[in-house]
Amino acid sequence: MLKLDLQEFAVPFRRTSKTKKRMRRTHLKKEVSAIVKCPKCGANLKPHRACAKCGNYKGEVKLNVEQEEE
Ligand SMILES: [Zn+2]
Repeated sequence: MLKLDLQEFAVPFRRTSKTKKRMRRTHLKKEVSAIVKCPKCGANLKPHRACAKCGNYKGEVKLNVEQEEE
């Protein structure tokens, strides 16, 4: 049978209140991923990357993108 004579581990002195718990968790939030729009075609892009739809990057066409819909 399990017998615990000594308290060998740290135990909270008192219960954490709702307010204290919520104050601590204000720092735990999901980061919003950075998304910019292509100035040429308006597609959503990750910053510092060429556009996947039109190949545009800093005003120049850097990628050869095949145009399927015309
Ligand atoms: Zn584009």
